[in-house]
Amino acid sequence: MRTLSLRLFRAEAHSTLHWPVMPVVILALLFTACAREKVSAHDATEVDTSATIERQTEPDSPEDGSVRADGTFRIVATTTQASDVTTILAEGVADIEITPLMGAGVDPHLYQPTESDIRAMNAADMVIYSGLHLEGQFDVVFKALNEQGTLIYSLSKPVKEAGFVIGAFDVGLSQSGTDDPHFWFDPRNWEITTVDLAETLAELDPDNADTYMTNAEAYSAQLRDLYTWADEGMRSVPAGQRYLVTSHDAFQYFGAAFGWRMAAIQGISTEDEAGVGDIQGTVQFVVDQKIPVLFVESSIPPNTIEAVQAAIAANGGATQVGVRELYSDAMGIPGTFGGAYIGMIAENVYTILQSYQCAGAQAHIPDWLDSIAIAPPEELLTVDCAT
Ligand SMILES: [Zn+2]
Repeated sequence: MRTLSLRLFRAEAHSTLHWPVMPVVILALLFTACAREKVSAHDATEVDTSATIERQTEPDSPEDGSVRADGTFRIVATTTQASDVTTILAEGVADIEITPLMGAGVDPHLYQPTESDIRAMNAADMVIYSGLHLEGQFDVVFKALNEQGTLIYSLSKPVKEAGFVIGAFDVGLSQSGTDDPHFWFDPRNWEITTVDLAETLAELDPDNADTYMTNAEAYSAQLRDLYTWADEGMRSVPAGQRYLVTSHDAFQYFGAAFGWRMAAIQGISTEDEAGVGDIQGTVQFVVDQKIPVLFVESSIPPNTIEAVQAAIAANGGATQVGVRELYSDAMGIPGTFGGAYIGMIAENVYTILQSYQCAGAQAHIPDWLDSIAIAPPEELLTVDCAT
């Protein structure tokens, strides 16, 4: 009975968070229609159907100048992280259009591409996505895009090639043998992605190559400073107390980067529901390890973390919930500190360390580094433990 109610809880919460569900068949049909439109728009003289179909399977080679065919470089970015890094690299480049698909607080594991998303991807010179099956509902769309020759760029690919992708070896059976998709949580991985993406953009759009590469260099330096700052703070908590308990397993890379251990109620994807066993296992773990704080993630409903907290309280124990929600798979609202990659990582560090301080643990928050282009807002620097 409890399993059932938990599952219902999650399904209900998800439906309010995400775009309307579009059945895969309709999606595929819509895609085919859009693909034809795109092909005929590219070459107005080709109106005969057989020629149009043939062209669909022939890739638009980016090297042949199809990027900026009409003067504008059109990029679609799936996640908030993807649109952030692309926007930073493109700063100062004229006639470039970056269309983000997912907004703040959206769960990319469950996000279904909408009709307008598909139109945007069809009209794009390049689609930038996170990869490692993070965008679990995009398989059909990516396959179709690939077949019509749209350039699809995976942000995780260079990280995987460099050997820094973590296998999801210690999660549920349904995910064994897969890679953990949350690679961006180690700023050193994000630097690899930044440089590789800049090189790819420079190749595709050679007139602006210097701008992409200069932006990448400046941003990489900031990512290294962010890592140094975060590492100092996160390692100030005594090693035996460094546990991050969250709803889903998004923080393996974050933990590996800064010497923390992770425990999550769900596995690496939110597509699997959390059951009673997961809740009870987490309760036991939190009690055994005397973990003082649990964290809610901004893109995941808080129900499972609240269930763990309630179960501990029912047994006479006490745990706190973090002073703020953590950003996991989605960043904050664009234009805010947490809406930028650097701010998102930093805000998580502030939230974790302040929450540990509030729980009476030893934790030191280093001064922010002026070498980083954005600075945390005042309200992030202090926290009232009582509220
Ligand atoms: Zn995730």
